[in-house]
Amino acid sequence: MNLMYASTRDANVKVTASQAILKGLSDDGVLFVPLQIPALDSSLKELSQMTYQETAYAVMKLFFTDFTEQELKDCIQAAYDSKFDTPEIAPLAEADGAYYLELFHGPTIAFKDMALSILPHLMITSARKNEVRNEIVILTATSGDTGKAALAGFADVKGTKIIVFYPKNGVSPIQEKQMVTQKGANTHVVGIHGNFDQAQTGVKQMFADKALEQELAACGYQFSSANSINIGRLVPQIVYYVYAYARLLAKGDIQDGENINVVVPTGNFGNILAAYYAKQMGLPIAKLICASNENKVLYDFFQTGAYNKNRTFMLTSSPSMDILISSNLERLIYRIAGNDSKQNAAFMKQLTEDGIYEISDAMREELKDFYGNYASEEETAQTIKELYEKTGYVLDTHTAVAASVFQKYRAAANDQTKTVIASTASPFKFTRSVMHAVDPSYDGRGDFELADALEQLANVKMPQAIEEIRTAEILHHTECEVAEMSDIVKKFLGVSGHLE
Ligand SMILES: *Cc1c(COP(=O)(O)O)cnc(C)c1O
Repeated sequence: MNLMYASTRDANVKVTASQAILKGLSDDGVLFVPLQIPALDSSLKELSQMTYQETAYAVMKLFFTDFTEQELKDCIQAAYDSKFDTPEIAPLAEADGAYYLELFHGPTIAFKDMALSILPHLMITSARKNEVRNEIVILTATSGDTGKAALAGFADVKGTKIIVFYPKNGVSPIQEKQMVTQKGANTHVVGIHGNFDQAQTGVKQMFADKALEQELAACGYQFSSANSINIGRLVPQIVYYVYAYARLLAKGDIQDGENINVVVPTGNFGNILAAYYAKQMGLPIAKLICASNENKVLYDFFQTGAYNKNRTFMLTSSPSMDILISSNLERLIYRIAGNDSKQNAAFMKQLTEDGIYEISDAMREELKDFYGNYASEEETAQTIKELYEKTGYVLDTHTAVAASVFQKYRAAANDQTKTVIASTASPFKFTRSVMHAVDPSYDGRGDFELADALEQLANVKMPQAIEEIRTAEILHHTECEVAEMSDIVKKFLGVSGHLE
């Protein structure tokens, strides 16, 4: 029996895992959810003897039931290889009473690599299984991290092309350089004269454009999405929570079955939802601690039961968490409403129309394992500085939000449960804010100078990802107006005659 996936807003839609991965979103434009969360069928002791790749198979086989063993193992081998700078893939570092699960050892030094290095392989396997003959064109709008991770994942993957749009003046210089130096004949990068919202709206319009869909199909292309609501990104994220638990058990730091807590710096709610799914599968997790920056819509939600996006959008030093609509929260709402798509659809309608919805007391009761809190900009910087001075370990800004919230939780709850903090980016990716936090006298230095200084200070080797872009050739020069986005896509694909 295959595990099927339903739309969160329409109980009549049911597809297989490979179909859900291939489409990304259901036809009504909403998310796919597994109809049940499967239970782990390996013991914790067995898991404690597994490599990352073996753990990945033990978890993913339970969700992607229409993949053969060989198909899934091939995807896993192709994803978690020497692209990661350590054979452990996701190592644990202990500092000041917490375990940092370092999810930034992949090619683009942020945790998006954990899922985006496997998604391309899951997608082409899904295309083959469903006898899709078209080439898959991945369209992505990015505010920085996702674009590069998707480019790196899809570069030179046969049967795919990827086109990334970013706001020309809206990403950090390092992020831009990472994207415009991307190699791979199937990659395209475009700076738009507009902001991230305009890039995202432009991409959504292309997905919804039926005429464009037909034009592309006539030339053998179809669009798909690599963004964080594809179930093919969510499931691979469950793996590292299981792996982290198993490593702690293997080291003897916890007993078999002992509960741990997990802290996750949260934006779109994908990463923490994966931790929740891991708990539902039977992994002994007690508290799921959701850490926000000053865009603390989730903190308020856990406090009050009301999700209210009507507020000012803040730009912070943890930009990947600057989000007011956490898309993946819908999957949790659906679940705590008792897998009720009607009830969920009603909430989401309120969110679209009024910017607010409020869940029932019974649903709030289902959230008792979650704890939400947030860190101000000042607290985030302070946390980086203090941990560095105490232990020498340097956090990036996103992970520092989580570390600050962890301290608040410990102080409030007096809970000494062993705790894993998801460390979502290398400090080298946000060097400027990190070095400013350690000592403002670093301000005013250039990006690569700062990276050199960080290498000395933290006593860790400069990641290849930074070393590379220092001298890399700029390969992508295209810029366009917002209104020209679909013309650019057609031009890249050779659909409208005038080839590049
Ligand atoms: C994307 C991202 C996050 C937020 O993860 P979500 O799954 O969207 O909650 C946190 N930190 C970093 C560095 C990220 O790139």
